[in-house]
Amino acid sequence: MGYLEGFAVTFKQMLQKPVTTQYEIGTGEKVERAERLHGRHVLNRYEDGMEKCIGCELCAGVCPARCIYVRGADNDDTDPVSPGERYGYVYEINYLRCIHCDLCVEACPTEAITETKLFEFSFTNRRDAIYTKAELLVGDDGMPQHLPWEDWREGEDQHTSAWMRATASSGDADFENVVGWSGELGYGVREPEKGQAFEDPEPEPDHDDHGHH
Ligand code: SF4
Ligand code: SF4
Repeated sequence: MGYLEGFAVTFKQMLQKPVTTQYEIGTGEKVERAERLHGRHVLNRYEDGMEKCIGCELCAGVCPARCIYVRGADNDDTDPVSPGERYGYVYEINYLRCIHCDLCVEACPTEAITETKLFEFSFTNRRDAIYTKAELLVGDDGMPQHLPWEDWREGEDQHTSAWMRATASSGDADFENVVGWSGELGYGVREPEKGQAFEDPEPEPDHDDHGHH
């Protein structure tokens, strides 16, 4: 390629619209996010305020980046934290390691851990990078907390819970092309999509067990 052709390429590029956009924390434009984007996690509660985490450590076990640290503890019968026997006493996620693969969300039996669409959280020290249970838990309104170093925008706290489950359960062909939502868990109620609704089983008939002792 002669040098004139080289210049031609340069000039052509100069007239193109830049593909980058100006970005500043808090004010700059954010790119459109995919509906299933995996961002900062939340620990969800039930509508009565009970915590969903039962401290089973399955999320920590499945995490390929080894960035979840959970310790469960027995619930106090008189003042339980979760509806189960156990609850998550310590829960930490190290965001210096998390690759946002969502495997923890898939593994969680109670859908306690889910991910929001927030991906701007630039901390300046290691302590801020390790999110504690107190920071991950949703507030009394079921919404994610907004921490000082996080850049939340409108809509980023929507659809943050009951996040995507498997789109093809165990590879079963019946689930092909079926989006695997389950009911909204953090706040509000979202209709499950086709093939994912939980059907109440038929009520069991009452057993008369008099005279069998
Ligand atoms: S999203 Fe993946 S890497 Fe991040 S905590 Fe969950 S399992 Fe670990
Ligand atoms: S978040 Fe879910 S998988 Fe992890 S310890 Fe709690 S209940 Fe178990």
